[in-house]
Amino acid sequence: MTDASNLLRGRCLFLPDMSPSSTRVFVAALASAGIEASGVPPSDGRTLELSGGHISGDECFPLRVVLGDFLKVIEAHGEDRVAFFLPTTCGPCRFGQYSHFLRKVLGELGYGRVPVLSPSSANGYGGIGLGDTSLLRTIWRAIVASDLLQRMLLHIRPYEQKPGESDAVYSLCLEDLCRELSRSGIGDGTRLQRLAASLARSRDRLRAVPVFKKNLPVIGIVGEIFCRLNEFSNQDMIRRMESHGAECWLSGISEWLAYASMEHRKNLRIAGKRFSPAMGVARLKNWFQRRDERILQELFRGDLEDEADLEDVMEKSRPYLPHQGVIGEMVLNVGKAVYLWEKGVSGIIDISPFSCMNGVVCQAVYPRVGDEHDGIPIRVFFFDQSRKDLDQDIAVFMELVGAYRARNKRS
Ligand code: SF4
Repeated sequence: MTDASNLLRGRCLFLPDMSPSSTRVFVAALASAGIEASGVPPSDGRTLELSGGHISGDECFPLRVVLGDFLKVIEAHGEDRVAFFLPTTCGPCRFGQYSHFLRKVLGELGYGRVPVLSPSSANGYGGIGLGDTSLLRTIWRAIVASDLLQRMLLHIRPYEQKPGESDAVYSLCLEDLCRELSRSGIGDGTRLQRLAASLARSRDRLRAVPVFKKNLPVIGIVGEIFCRLNEFSNQDMIRRMESHGAECWLSGISEWLAYASMEHRKNLRIAGKRFSPAMGVARLKNWFQRRDERILQELFRGDLEDEADLEDVMEKSRPYLPHQGVIGEMVLNVGKAVYLWEKGVSGIIDISPFSCMNGVVCQAVYPRVGDEHDGIPIRVFFFDQSRKDLDQDIAVFMELVGAYRARNKRS
């Protein structure tokens, strides 16, 4: 039994609602190791009300949502049956302070005994498996599979003939996937085969959704990971974009986990540990993750573009934010914007929380990126709870996209 399992004895581990699908698959993966877990209930007005009293105004919006959702869980279940999962990082922005802040607020409220599990990006989120390497691998596969299904959904939904059909089919696909992920007592090889079979069934179900033939502009979506994926925080931006006649290519979660692993290996090299046991473990983990990802991705060949190669994304970012000196989502987002332009998208949107450090840096860099890439429209949409006139702003952006498409044959 691992330390984490001991901490969790008799408690349900609640996960922040990064996106409904990723949370569900994560919960299913934890069930395979006998860990009781759940996503937090959907964020709402009460979420902001509960966190509002502890916020000074300097914090990032995602922290306010996560804190409020966790306090809502205690309100509903009490403090003795719950534990919280909140990953952390050691830079470059305020994310590294979230888990400390959560513990401080819980302590002030008298809930200091509630365990908070915080795997860190410092070792490439190796702690996400709570000390169980097989679980770590299942979680990685779950995230890759859920990213693939979500991308497939977004590829079909804007063209569906019957409104709501692709969402209904997608829901079946997620159930299928979660059923497979939650199986216990099977080896890693068998689990991968079963996951691949589930994904192939789901791919075929989604392919069978009747669609109209339309020539919609494709918009690449980058930005801060929580805000771009959490529909409450971004006011359902993807559906809004679709209602304005766009198909969206949304960056998922696996990209960030892979980036954290890459940074971990880079930091080991810088620390002179190129040939250390830690590097051996990091390389092995990366090798297995890449292999599993390729096997699952291969099932969608012909439907979806391959995930961007991270080394390539870093290279594309280099003229603007060299990854040797700058770290974090800003590097990923700028490199990804160039990658998306190469893939022929007609516009790029960066979804970030209001005052996000990554978003602010990107906003300063994007005009040059756009100028040097055919003038492709790139726009940062900042969010907090007071965001108004979103549809009006999207309409203006889509006008720019229309003009770009008219003058650019490759888009
Ligand atoms: S990425 Fe932005 S929103 Fe997220 S913690 Fe960092 S500064 Fe805050």
